[in-house]
This record gives sequence, C-alpha cells and structure tokens, in this order.
Amino acid sequence: MIKKLLLGALALVATGATVAYVQRETITLAVVEKVANKRMQNPFATLADCLHIGLCGTGSPFPDPDRAAPCTLVIAGQDMFLFDAGSAAAKQIALMGFSTGQLKGVFITHFHSDHIDGLGEVLMTRWAQHTEGQKLTVHGPSGISKVMNGLETAYQQDSAYRTAHHGAATMPPELAGAQTHEFEVRKGNYTTVLQQPGLQIEAFAVNHQPINPAVGYRITYKGRTVVLSGDTTSDQQVKNAARNADLLLHEALSPELVARLQETAIDNNRSKLAKIFADIPNYHATPLDVAVLAQEAQVGYVVLHHIVPPLPLAPLREIFLGKAPEIFQGPLRIGEDGDFISLPAGSKEVIFDRR
Ligand SMILES: [Zn+2]
Ligand SMILES: [Zn+2]
Repeated sequence: MIKKLLLGALALVATGATVAYVQRETITLAVVEKVANKRMQNPFATLADCLHIGLCGTGSPFPDPDRAAPCTLVIAGQDMFLFDAGSAAAKQIALMGFSTGQLKGVFITHFHSDHIDGLGEVLMTRWAQHTEGQKLTVHGPSGISKVMNGLETAYQQDSAYRTAHHGAATMPPELAGAQTHEFEVRKGNYTTVLQQPGLQIEAFAVNHQPINPAVGYRITYKGRTVVLSGDTTSDQQVKNAARNADLLLHEALSPELVARLQETAIDNNRSKLAKIFADIPNYHATPLDVAVLAQEAQVGYVVLHHIVPPLPLAPLREIFLGKAPEIFQGPLRIGEDGDFISLPAGSKEVIFDRR
C-alpha cells in the first residue's frame, strides 16, 4: 500500500516536472510579465509619509562589483531627489524600483568625476520617462553651470535624434536636459538650496581640499533630519550640521587597507598608482573619525558609504570598521547598494529595508 502511494506520488512529481519543462517558455514569459508589471507600478503608491533614503551607489572610483559609484536617493513624502550621480546612477535607481522620470531635482556635492559621470544618463532617462511637464533642476555649488553646459553640448545631437524619432509630444525639446541652479556656500554658514512646505534642503561647505567648492547637505522633512557628508575629512562643519540628526550618511576610507594597496602598487612598479594611493587618505574620513564625530554630535544612526577601498571578503568589513563601533554608542553600519532607510514623519523610528 505504502509502496503504491509512493510510486503514485513520484509519478505525479515526474508528470509535473515534464509539464513544467514542456511549458518552460510560457512559464518564463508569465514571470517576466509579472516582474515587469511590478517594476512599472508607481512606487510611491505604497510608501508611507517618511523621509526615505535609498542607497543606489555606496562605492567610489574603485571598480567594485558590489558597489556602484556615489548615488543617493532622498524621498521626502512623494518628492524624490537624487544626491550625486556616479556612473550607472540611472540604472541603479531603476533596479531599486524607482524611475528617474519621477525625479524632482538633483543635488551635486562636488565635481570629482565619480560624482557626476552618470549625470548625462540621468538627464536623458529622466526626460524620456517624465510625464508631468516639468524640466528637471540640477543644484550644485559654483561651477555646476560649467558642468551642465558641457553636458548640454555632449547630448545636443542625441536629444535631436530622440525628438525626431519619437515626436515632440513624447520628447518635447524644451524639457530636454535640465535647468541649473548654482549656489554659493560660505564656510560656517548654511545655504538654503530648496524650500517647500515641510521640506528644507541646505548646503554647507566641507573639507575636501584641494577640491573647492565641496559641500554636504542637510535635509529636514517634517521633523526628521538626514545629513549627507559629501566627500570630506572629519570636519567641524559636518559635526555642526549633524548635531542631533536622525541619520548621518558619511563617506569613509580605511587608511590601513589603502596602504596595503599602495605597497602592492610599489611592488608591481605602478608608481603613478602608488602616488595616488598615498595621496587619497588626506581628503577623506576614516570610519573611526566618523564614529568620534557622530558620538560628539549625538547623531541617532550612522551609515557609511563612498566605501574605499572595496571590501570583497567578509572579514574586511571588521578591519574596515576597526574601533568605530566601540566609539559610537548608537547603531553604525556599512551601507550597501539597495539599502532603503525610512524615517517616518513625526516619530523617532528608523526602519531598515532592502529594495
Ligand atoms: Zn568621491
Ligand atoms: Zn571627491
């Protein structure tokens, strides 16, 4: 009896597997349709009223399969903004289930290539997917106009092709590219870059010498505050801006690990690379620096990004962090591409998720 039942069950499984194999294309196409359908739904429909931070790129100029170049989404209620647009930013945003078409603004911290080399693609895809008739604004410190003028020249021909191919109703030439908002920052002061009901975005000067200007941003939405350090050493301005902030997203570099790479470069006669490795620690912050600063500023939560160098093996994470988790008394973590952090309006909660 049991033998018969077992044989019957086995036959059923075998028949099921055969049907699935024969129908594999139909099944695969149904799955693709389901995934595409989910991707194209309005992501804001299911988002609670929060200040959300999406880590679309937690890497640096180093090639790193796990971390894209600098890219941070900030969603205040229903308004989505992008902070820095490193290479692949547009694709990373899409992979997190958002559309560049819904971007209300882009904010640039400084003009190192890793922070702007995905900007052209962000502008092009934003134009292609945007449906509300608003031209995008790119905000940046003095010098942003020069960058934007260059991008406009670079993409002029492609913009014309797109309008010619899809028609002016779909690709209106007057909405191509972006309008530029260039602002000034003075050391010790805050520059209000954007203000609308419930939301304030301020810029402040940071120390990324000899890169000048270089700014960080403080974003306040319905009582919740996030500070983005930009590229900087441990700096008093960041500390002041981050005082009592709910979340500090700070860049970090491990001098110990970079020194190892420098030695390896010397061993391989890569003297130019060795010189660059010798130079970079002096304009970035270490995880320990960030922990000290965040503890003194009484920050609620610390997330590290712009991770230098890549950390392909799990134990490297501990080496990278060093004593930082002992110094900072609150939660501190290394940000990962796809992390999605929500600060619900009018509460003290910090919710971590993945997208
Ligand atoms: Zn950088
Ligand atoms: Zn930089």
